[in-house]
Amino acid sequence: MQDLDRLIAEALAVFERIEDPAQLEQAKARYLGKSGALTDLLKGLGKLPAEERPAAGSRINQAKQQLEDALARRREAIQGKKMEVRLAEEALDVSLPGRGLGVGGLHPVTRTLERIESLFRSIGFDVASGPEIETDFYNFTALNIPEDHPARAMHDTFYVEGGALLRTHTSPVQVHYMQKHQPPLKIIAPGRVYRCDSDVTHTPMFHQVEGLWVDENVTLATLKGVLGDFMQRFFERENLPVRFRPSFFPFTEPSAEMDIGCVICGGSGCRVCSHTGWLEVLGCGMVHPNVLKHVNIDSEKYLGFAFGLGVERMAMLRYGVNDIRLFFENDLRFLKQFN
Ligand SMILES: [Zn+2]
Repeated sequence: MQDLDRLIAEALAVFERIEDPAQLEQAKARYLGKSGALTDLLKGLGKLPAEERPAAGSRINQAKQQLEDALARRREAIQGKKMEVRLAEEALDVSLPGRGLGVGGLHPVTRTLERIESLFRSIGFDVASGPEIETDFYNFTALNIPEDHPARAMHDTFYVEGGALLRTHTSPVQVHYMQKHQPPLKIIAPGRVYRCDSDVTHTPMFHQVEGLWVDENVTLATLKGVLGDFMQRFFERENLPVRFRPSFFPFTEPSAEMDIGCVICGGSGCRVCSHTGWLEVLGCGMVHPNVLKHVNIDSEKYLGFAFGLGVERMAMLRYGVNDIRLFFENDLRFLKQFN
């Protein structure tokens, strides 16, 4: 029994020093396990005289309980310490200032598209849309560009399996629209178009806005008035000089290229305008009677004008960007400037 007191004191001291749960379990086995010190004592009971056995047995059992209790307390203490350490490590200083999230912005091409749309909406144009994968009929034939027409060669078309193609302009939308609606028609059709072309002013995909106004009294004067006014408002320049040069498009007759006074140099001549003082901004003309015939609109009764402008070109001029590819490289340093 003297051994027992010494054993208990020793075990309690050992438990107290242990900081690790696994080591604690090992220590438990050493004292309370099958071949532990205390179990050995129990086994030794048989050697005692019969009258001393009960007292000794109960004394050993008490000791066992004492050690179990000490173990439980120690386990709890170790867990508690672990939790404290973890809490200290994961502590948050809620008084620190937040890490600000950057605010996103619209892409400059989207901004430009929205600006063009809102300017045309303000004078009564509707916005129409159509498919980006087109048939030959809508992209060419219905627009008075028959199969052997040389203008097809200028379009650098991407063809899709099965004879379909990626539209090379947004003009097919006017064909779709005129098939479903009778004049008066007053729409713009913004959207993506595709041409096999790539350099500082061309990308294989770009955005165009097609415009169409068909009514009984739409004339070349209407065209000049609407487009001249639009350019002044788009570039926020009153008295912006405008000129129309004769041109050729299969789907308009007569056709014209529209120039505006250079918005970069004010007309004195710079690299952007090739020192001419003028910038070419869009193609336009009076809708060719053949186009109206293709969609069963009476070309004797109705006249119309159409135009097509490049959205990236307008964005480049408005923001002073000199390489169209910057719009599609997704470089945040570039894009952030438009927020
Ligand atoms: Zn210039």
